[in-house]
Amino acid sequence: MLDMIVRGGQVVTPHGVAGVDVAIQDGKIVALAHPGVLEVEVKRVIDATGKIVLPGGIEPHTHIGIPVPEKWAGRPEVFTQPPEAATRAAAFGGVTTLLDFAGALPVTPDDPVSTDPIMRQLESRRQAFSGHSYTDFAYHYILAGAVSPRTIGEIGESIQSGQASFKIFTTFAGRVPYGHLQAIFEEVAKHGGIMAVHAEDDDMVAYMEEKLKREGQDQGYNLHLVHSNLSEDVSFRKVIRMAEHAEVAIYFVHVTAKEGVAAVGEARGRGQPVYGEALHNYLEFTCDDYRKPDGTKIHTYPAIKYAADRDALKSGLADGRLSTTATDEYTTYKDVKFWGQTVESVCGGHNGIETRLPVAFTKFVSQGGMPLTRFADITATNAAKILGLYPQKGVIAAGSDADLVLMDPGIQKTITLDDLQADSDYSIWEGFQCQGYPVMTILRGKVIVEDGKLIGSTSDGQWLSRKVSPEVLGRPVC
Ligand SMILES: [Zn+2]
Repeated sequence: MLDMIVRGGQVVTPHGVAGVDVAIQDGKIVALAHPGVLEVEVKRVIDATGKIVLPGGIEPHTHIGIPVPEKWAGRPEVFTQPPEAATRAAAFGGVTTLLDFAGALPVTPDDPVSTDPIMRQLESRRQAFSGHSYTDFAYHYILAGAVSPRTIGEIGESIQSGQASFKIFTTFAGRVPYGHLQAIFEEVAKHGGIMAVHAEDDDMVAYMEEKLKREGQDQGYNLHLVHSNLSEDVSFRKVIRMAEHAEVAIYFVHVTAKEGVAAVGEARGRGQPVYGEALHNYLEFTCDDYRKPDGTKIHTYPAIKYAADRDALKSGLADGRLSTTATDEYTTYKDVKFWGQTVESVCGGHNGIETRLPVAFTKFVSQGGMPLTRFADITATNAAKILGLYPQKGVIAAGSDADLVLMDPGIQKTITLDDLQADSDYSIWEGFQCQGYPVMTILRGKVIVEDGKLIGSTSDGQWLSRKVSPEVLGRPVC
């Protein structure tokens, strides 16, 4: 007897969109079959008539349950929302897997950087989520500062253990100097991992911060002058050139400028395995919005730029130069988000994990005519491939985990704060009009959200071991 059949929906697979039934057993998809073929006993039939059945969303970039720097919060002991709240919001937003971070995220020189071995820090992050997560989870490991030879020597073991991606910054207090960075690139390449890179030119950022302060122009609405187009252009190209020498694959988190899109596109055109991510707030807002009352609420670092940059990100996602959508989820309350008012103190991030799918669906599918197969790519499949979860995750196919989101393309809904599940008291998406919204989320064959109700449990989420395929590491495959 089957556990479940999802029947009557338009099912999005890598081969196209088809009116097939999805059969589920023991948490896995066991068959896709034309209507009428699966005349077998089944415990539960889900009627997906009129719905689009997509692979569960994969959110490749979150910061959950971590300390917010005092420089941003204005006081100590503030944390981003905990796993229970963030993954609850994720489940309502059709997300079944997220990638958070282990290791330190230093924003100021005073932020603590643990010297514990990588494996111990991964274990402590696993414990922070185990029993507290409605969705599956994994971690990028952050390497910060002048990374020691001992830590670089631990990279191989970490990748062997299923922890396949490493994050570095080329700016902020956690900036990795370029010599160390090249050593990290080579070690990660040698062991079959992938680099997640936050690239900005640190010299330019520091110079512009000082200049704007000196001139009394350091208000938060000038953030895009500090974290500038030129900084992205220069830093992306430098990282790409270094990666070419090390033969390491790069996943650029939050591409923000048309120059970044171009750099990624050109590298891919040469066959280099470079992948780019866009955050959904960058697909909507421009730096003009920073000047509105409380306008810096839309901010996530580096900085939201101009209309031409927003349009380049959208076309990059549509034409394949960019691969994924993400949120840089970093949820706080208003008092924290609005505390910092200068280019140095505006708190990064926002609560976005729940809104990414409906916002992207509205923009790209309902308004932009994007094929559903491409929508699945940029919300799930590509993240699974690039970060080593494919084909267990990110695809509706026999043998894959039964992670599904049912979208109702007919729902018209204006987002209000009351709709949202995050531990927060603001949303930058209040008032955004959605055409299409997730109505059911299924994690490994278990319905976790249905008809606006949370049915899942915080014991449902599991840590995921990852391994990136040699194809993804060798050339730009998605
Ligand atoms: Zn981030």
